[in-house]
Amino acid sequence: MAPGVFVATARLYATTTTVVAGADGGCLVIDPAVTVADLDALASWLAGRGLRPVAAWSTHPHWDHVLWSRPLGDAVRYATPRAVTAAERNRPGLVRELEETAPGHDLTLFARLRPLPGERLPWPGPRAVVLAHDAHAPGHGAVFLPDTGVLIAGDMCSDVEIPLLDAAAAGGDPFGGYRHGLAVLAAVPGVRVVVPGHGHVGGAAEFRRRVAADFGYLDAVEAGLDVADERLAGPAAAWLRAEHDRQRALGLRELTESASPARRPE
Ligand SMILES: [Zn+2]
Repeated sequence: MAPGVFVATARLYATTTTVVAGADGGCLVIDPAVTVADLDALASWLAGRGLRPVAAWSTHPHWDHVLWSRPLGDAVRYATPRAVTAAERNRPGLVRELEETAPGHDLTLFARLRPLPGERLPWPGPRAVVLAHDAHAPGHGAVFLPDTGVLIAGDMCSDVEIPLLDAAAAGGDPFGGYRHGLAVLAAVPGVRVVVPGHGHVGGAAEFRRRVAADFGYLDAVEAGLDVADERLAGPAAAWLRAEHDRQRALGLRELTESASPARRPE
């Protein structure tokens, strides 16, 4: 996608894995995913290029972003402190989801993350800046590579998925939390490439388009309006439409609880 930055896309949910080449054959691996076969293929590909994981990053504490395998070696795997806490607290649920969707992983390596305080990933390679927020999941940490302008957005800024809110967001404000997270990403200067956790890599203009589409989606759902979003129309979008219905209910509840009667949708 950029010099020294590689993205693989799995068949399952178009899940992306990002590899950043560093010094002396070391590399940073972000969100390796998703099946056992996918991780095996990743390990072989890295070995074939003479790359060895020396650090890893999980963008957020959902099962498909905290995977690892023995052939990937013993790199330090980081996430934000809030993400690590959430992954530990929700471990039984994460394991259940993993076993339902992508069984066969080594559970001793699953979701074993070290909290990284601060904003700079400590590794011998290109600068990697962590952008932490609580949209989509607690302690969601996107990674920006200033030298190449690559933003690894985690489960945000997708061309195939609508914004997926963390309904259990701390502070009870999933929409506000998501808006804040999106604003954090939108404010990053010099994004030339965006890599979503699920979907296709986009350029600078596409990044702006997705940010605008996501703010537009949030506006419409929060206002109780109908949403015309092409991401809800795809053939594989049944589960997304179910999420959308849940989020609409969340938006309507917010409206009826906080708005004046004149603004109520009925
Ligand atoms: Zn997620």
